[in-house]
Amino acid sequence: AKQDGRNTYCFFESEMDALMKARRELELDLRSAIEKGQMQLAYQPVINSETLEIAGFEALLRWHHPQRGWVPPSEFIPVAEASGQICDIGAWVLRQACQEARNWPDHLWVAVNVSPVQFKHRDLIQDLNTALLDASMSANRLELEITEGVLLHNTESTLATLESIHSLGVSISMDDFGTGYSSLSYLRMFKFDKIKIDQSFISDLHQTQDARAMIGAITSMCENLGIKTTAEGVETRAQQDILIQQKCSLLQGYLFGRPVLSSELDVYRFAKQQQ
Ligand code: C2E
Ligand code: CA
Ligand code: CA
Ligand code: CA
Repeated sequence: AKQDGRNTYCFFESEMDALMKARRELELDLRSAIEKGQMQLAYQPVINSETLEIAGFEALLRWHHPQRGWVPPSEFIPVAEASGQICDIGAWVLRQACQEARNWPDHLWVAVNVSPVQFKHRDLIQDLNTALLDASMSANRLELEITEGVLLHNTESTLATLESIHSLGVSISMDDFGTGYSSLSYLRMFKFDKIKIDQSFISDLHQTQDARAMIGAITSMCENLGIKTTAEGVETRAQQDILIQQKCSLLQGYLFGRPVLSSELDVYRFAKQQQ
């Protein structure tokens, strides 16, 4: 039995080695991914729940690796955050999203995800200014999506940065709302323009009365606070109907459209489709 234990341990150790090695390789490949043109943005439409027209798009990062193929963000973003590479990548995403969105019809906004690491270690205001100026895009068409990781260290400087973003005219939304520990207290701390109700709430909608009551409570609270609500991960017509009934302002999910690479994105058609 003792022998077995040792073997198991050795096996585990070599598995760990393999994992670490794969991670290091990913990190190495990430370094040149942008300059080699392997990174692209995909855009997913967000729908106005009253008019059912497209209101804007969320930019989602896509990495096509020459050997591995498409690497999902859930795999490479944590690596990029741990190594600090997310700062350069994030700045690129901002620039790229503005460059692409400048060609869309004026009423469509673009939302960009910002990592807590990028928020903390990078001069976000400078990156924002550069991206907006270079694209000569109006700031009110840009929105940043942050998660509660940004607010975890509730420092003066965090709040100051959020205020500066607002004074540029850029909107801020709280992503993955409801999954953290103290989501409600964050709403008191800072005036968000929008909250995105996490998709775990949406997938439960048709099964439980509780989920429905929860969404209703969130949307009416936000309405009173002057905050818009987006439901993420809307996949069925039944979910759409409940969300409209519960007065959720914006809807996003496969039901309306999957994220599409910018090369395949025809926003004019998208915009017209709803008329
Ligand atoms: P997120 O910001 O919560 O983005 C929503 C995720 O849900 C996206 O996955 C999207 O493709 C997926 N999704 C959209 N509609 C549906 C639906 O109806 N059903 C289901 N099951 N899924 C849906 P994706 O693109 O794989 O991104 C995963 C996460 O990676 C994002 O979660 C975000 O946290 C991160 N991420 C993606 N792009 C960036 C980026 O440019 N910067 C940073 N910092 N993080 C990013
Ligand atoms: Ca997001
Ligand atoms: Ca989300
Ligand atoms: Ca998420």
